[in-house]
Amino acid sequence: AGAMSRCPSCGSAALVEDAHYAQQQLVCAACGCVLAEGLLTTTYSEEEQLREVAFSRSTGQREQRSRCVQRGIKRVQDLCKVLQLPRVLEEMAVSYLEQAMARPAFRLLSLDKKELLGGCCVLVSCRQHSWPLTMGTVCSLLYAKAELLAGVYRSLQTELELSVPALGLADLVKTHLNSFRLFQPAADVPAQFVEDKEKLVARTMQVVELAAETWLVTGRHPVPVVTAAAFLAWQSLQPAARLACGLARFCKLAGVDLPPPAHLRLRELQEILLRMASQLAWLRVLKLDEKRAAKHLGDILQHRVFLLRKSFRAEEEEEERVAGAPLPAGGDEQDKVRPSLGTEQQDEARRPLLPPCLLKPRKRLRTAAPSAAELALTGDEPISDSEIEQYLRGRDEEREFRKAKAWK
Ligand SMILES: [Zn+2]
Repeated sequence: AGAMSRCPSCGSAALVEDAHYAQQQLVCAACGCVLAEGLLTTTYSEEEQLREVAFSRSTGQREQRSRCVQRGIKRVQDLCKVLQLPRVLEEMAVSYLEQAMARPAFRLLSLDKKELLGGCCVLVSCRQHSWPLTMGTVCSLLYAKAELLAGVYRSLQTELELSVPALGLADLVKTHLNSFRLFQPAADVPAQFVEDKEKLVARTMQVVELAAETWLVTGRHPVPVVTAAAFLAWQSLQPAARLACGLARFCKLAGVDLPPPAHLRLRELQEILLRMASQLAWLRVLKLDEKRAAKHLGDILQHRVFLLRKSFRAEEEEEERVAGAPLPAGGDEQDKVRPSLGTEQQDEARRPLLPPCLLKPRKRLRTAAPSAAELALTGDEPISDSEIEQYLRGRDEEREFRKAKAWK
């Protein structure tokens, strides 16, 4: 291990550690050559000691552990600095890391998982303070796979018995929109596309709330919902100039990534808006389509509560209806908006407000529970010879199989 105590390119012994995006690097101070990336140690000498006494085999567990914890703390602090988190969050994350490292379950984790553990501690403290840090951000900073991080995150929660609130949508909207480049005129942003930040944040917030009320948020990744909502809000603030601009172009102009599910969230939101718009007499006559629904977003949002109640059958009503006369199965007919119908028939066309996965199930719905006869099986029933024989190869089959195998 001592081979790296001097820079191989210039021979200088002045090697320094450099935390670049929370990823440790060993850099030569004389020539700037990067000697090693992603070291988990705080100093190079520690790395040497670690090799000599593998942690799991060491008897002086206390000493080794404290060094391990120190390293972890340093990484958590680096991560917090990169994310520009307030001091409170950093302290909290560090304390979670110390708690976690005291548990046997985490003491023996592999080094790369230990690194993720620090990220998870930061994530937990952010969530508990409604600081909108997404798992994706942590993954990209730690160069980690999402599934791996999620696994460590889950075990951290169960091990420390933490209650972690879901990502606060309001805060997420604010920080996500902060990164949009639409608030100042620029060379590649046409004047009519520039928007006031406060206005856009406020309206996006309303759209996101509407999405949450109409089951478009639960179980979904929040960033695509926010992206779609921001786009609709932005369009609606100056529809004449912006209706022709698509979601993809909008994201490009704003300088943000377009997460693939955003297209789906947009369509779902547009469907909801259209349905709500059909309840307003002066909008019904306009025969709106999905695209132009954004034009009246302001009106729709203003009467949100009323329109939602009118557009979707309420729970109590639903119960009454089920108790009364059962309607024929197959919701296809009811799914369509029929704005031309009279009020009475329209009431009939209203469907209950449900999450999209229930309205458009991708798979066949799960079949009913096994019948009574199936349930009555005990496992002690006799098994006939003929039933078993059908799983055995016959003489011909065996010959064919041998022939086919010879070809390989
Ligand atoms: Zn050098």
